[in-house]
Amino acid sequence: MKYSKYFIPTLRDIPSEAEIPSHKYALKGGYIKKIASGIYDYLPLGLKVLRKIEAIVRKEMNKSGAMEVSMPSMVPAELWQKSGRWSFYGKELLRIKDRADREFCFGPTHEEVIVDMVSNNIQSYKQLPINLYQIQTKFRDEIRPRFGLMRAREFTMKDAYSFHEDQSSLDATYQDMYKAYCNIFTNCGLKFRVVNADSGNIGGNSSQEFMITADSGEDEILYCSSCTYAANVEKAATIIHNPDEENQTAIEVETPGIKSIEDVSKFLNSTPTQLIKALVYQYEIMIEQNKYEAKYALIFIRGDYDLSEIKLGNKLNALSLRLATDDEIQTQLNAPSGFLGPVGLATNKSLTILADDSIKGLKNAIVGANKVDYHLKNVNTPKDYTFDEYIDLKIVKEGDTCPECKKGQLIKERGIEVGHIFKLGSKYSESMKAVFLDKNGKEQPFIMGCYGIGIGRTAMAAIEQNYDDNGPTWPIQIAPFEVILIQANMNNETQSTVANNLYQTLLSNNIDVLFDDRNERMGVKFNDADLIGSPIRIVIGKKADEGIVELNLRSGIKDELAVADVVTTIDKHITELLQISNSKVK
Ligand code: ATP
Ligand code: MG
Repeated sequence: MKYSKYFIPTLRDIPSEAEIPSHKYALKGGYIKKIASGIYDYLPLGLKVLRKIEAIVRKEMNKSGAMEVSMPSMVPAELWQKSGRWSFYGKELLRIKDRADREFCFGPTHEEVIVDMVSNNIQSYKQLPINLYQIQTKFRDEIRPRFGLMRAREFTMKDAYSFHEDQSSLDATYQDMYKAYCNIFTNCGLKFRVVNADSGNIGGNSSQEFMITADSGEDEILYCSSCTYAANVEKAATIIHNPDEENQTAIEVETPGIKSIEDVSKFLNSTPTQLIKALVYQYEIMIEQNKYEAKYALIFIRGDYDLSEIKLGNKLNALSLRLATDDEIQTQLNAPSGFLGPVGLATNKSLTILADDSIKGLKNAIVGANKVDYHLKNVNTPKDYTFDEYIDLKIVKEGDTCPECKKGQLIKERGIEVGHIFKLGSKYSESMKAVFLDKNGKEQPFIMGCYGIGIGRTAMAAIEQNYDDNGPTWPIQIAPFEVILIQANMNNETQSTVANNLYQTLLSNNIDVLFDDRNERMGVKFNDADLIGSPIRIVIGKKADEGIVELNLRSGIKDELAVADVVTTIDKHITELLQISNSKVK
């Protein structure tokens, strides 16, 4: 491809909304163009990267035995009503009416469509398992689209769905997908970590996310310093050891106007780890289709921990939740906010009370006395209060103990979620009554798995992991061009002859090359080459008449080469770059 004929509308100024390198370079380098919030044109350079990622994804999916299909973006409401998600999914679902007033949605994910496709065509266990995938446009009306293709509203996803007769068959395909995903991100030249994840509103009970590690990542990961445990903070667990000490007798102490954990612990010469914090939430649940109810929950957790709203929402099956106001707390608990505690609390029956396991075994705790300006010291269970069970509702912290090996400490890292694999079970097949006949001729709901990869997000994450002050430094596997050929002086005939011959030679050797044949200053050409970010650059300059060109690697290495050696040298560097990026995998 010749630059003079190629459409790369670079920008002089970066729009102020672009906060992170990938977004800046994708706009400045002419990869994408914004049309509306979270909606983008993919320009030739951007599309080329996406297509390279798609090709890597397709190859691994096909290798795993999955079959490619294509489902429509426009999905009839009936399918979503059948699964129950029409009323559950909320505002991310873009709902549309056709001319006859029939309702549709623009598919944000395709469980309903695939269940419909498979259940109408597969009747017997003999036809199972089956794994179907597509690479297709999704729409999610994200509340805060940002960072370009990283969190877009319209975006390309690879989504796969597998159908099984039993759990062990699902486990096997899930494992195949796990391996395929590892190959995909390795073959994209990216560093990644696989973490245990929350299943969100897709459903199911077991899932893992593939995280591209990068400082700008929206997700927080905790991994163990001594074993392989790694989890999204939304899911991460720990084990708590509260120190054993002798029970003392509870006493009431005056704490005038002192409410916050920090102030109370200072005032009472203690530490937040000795306090039991009480939080009240209002949450909404669906009691039947289109019928909702607002409820309240009181949660007790150790003073040094924050509550995870994700874990709480999952426990309560909440559609939404928020902290209760002081007035709501007074009405629900007949006690003042800031002084709540588990001792002698007169609560109404509809209140849900939950205890985080961080307070299990906590001796001589400090708690609110359920009256203004008073706390209790030396509170112990079961003498002073009891809970039926303790569950995990906390946000686990760096330095906490690994829940798996029980030895290592958890370390924090940031990541970008590019892929997610789920064991769905029979959630959709049951709600949509999708069944097959098992070995005994009995109807059973399909057991399902589903597996997503964000194609555009992977491209952006690749930049977040690979950039310098001048542009992206793409892994060679997904760089828009492997090589950029730059002719220094377009008016020099020898340079033109050498450059054109070399360009043809590279093309015939299947090297993906962009020939910058524009009549521009070298500075301009170099700047643009930095934005294209190819790892290998060949400059045809002053020594062209001696048959010598310059090799310029993005990593900083510079060398002079005989024209005749260019192809073998490029091949050598491509092989080396592939090895370097493969060894980067965590
Ligand atoms: P997030 O928590 O980031 O919103 P998600 O859990 O909603 O992601 P999934 O439903 O698992 O995402 O979708 C599968 C993949 O699709 C994700 O791993 C991600 O790579 C991609 N993806 C999801 N939402 C977006 C988006 N708004 N823009 C770009 N890619 C997305
Ligand atoms: Mg989402």
